[in-house]
Amino acid sequence: MNFCSNCAAPVVQRIPAGDDRPRYVCDSCDTVFYHNPKIIAGCIAEWGDRILLCRRAIEPRSGAWTLPAGFMENGESTPDAAAREAMEEACARVEVGALHCYFSIPRISQVYVIFLARLLDPAVAAGPESLEVGLFDEASIPWDELAFPSIERALERYFEDRRRGQFGTHVEEIHRRAPPRGA
Ligand SMILES: [Zn+2]
Repeated sequence: MNFCSNCAAPVVQRIPAGDDRPRYVCDSCDTVFYHNPKIIAGCIAEWGDRILLCRRAIEPRSGAWTLPAGFMENGESTPDAAAREAMEEACARVEVGALHCYFSIPRISQVYVIFLARLLDPAVAAGPESLEVGLFDEASIPWDELAFPSIERALERYFEDRRRGQFGTHVEEIHRRAPPRGA
């Protein structure tokens, strides 16, 4: 950040009075800019024993497989964001259910909120951010081609829970980096 979005004066980075970490501060209009973690909402949408995955058409990790998920917009709930992402990325109508994974990723200041969901219609299709979409059973999950450690972890927890016959809510931290491209 270089300039104040309020008055267009240059901003500086320093610790404001009463705070404990550096912020972007505008000394011209006394505005402090707080940069906080971003929430990514998504779902594991089930159709029988299969779940919906999307192959990314956009960076980062273009070409890799992921759950339908994306940044929350202002003014929407997390379940609504998850349903919207399923529609945008896979033209999928879903009924969002229980919270399944709540992952903090401190390294990149992101929080993943992944719900269980019921696919209402198996007729899915790639949206503009997907190269292709599909329904996968456990044996056909492309484990080596998943986009992010958070997605891999969510799928691991999902299939563990499914084998147990009981779904829980998994609150975890993720510290691993995504593998390099082509790995
Ligand atoms: Zn300003």
